[in-house]
Amino acid sequence: MNDDEAKLDPRLKECPLCGGAATLFVTKEHGIALVECSQCGLRRHDQNEAWAIENWNSRVGDEEPNLSLQDAKPAISLLQDLLETTSGMERVILKIIEVLESEAENE
Ligand SMILES: [Zn+2]
Repeated sequence: MNDDEAKLDPRLKECPLCGGAATLFVTKEHGIALVECSQCGLRRHDQNEAWAIENWNSRVGDEEPNLSLQDAKPAISLLQDLLETTSGMERVILKIIEVLESEAENE
């Protein structure tokens, strides 16, 4: 007998390499979760079932856009100020450059 539990899980996307069906194995004793492709054998280990599913399903291009609303807020508020003063394009351009540069440093 072993404690491993294997099942084809509808929550799992197809294999990113071959498109095959993925199987989730959970080792109850150690709480280790393994997702394995039934066709090509691609594997991924994680500390628990939820992470295993989330990580297996993650794909390039799923990420959030780099520039968030939070990042854009300083430039937006400056633009709103300028609607009232109707001058200072230089300040706007400098602020946009500052925001974009600070975003680029985070990558
Ligand atoms: Zn595969």
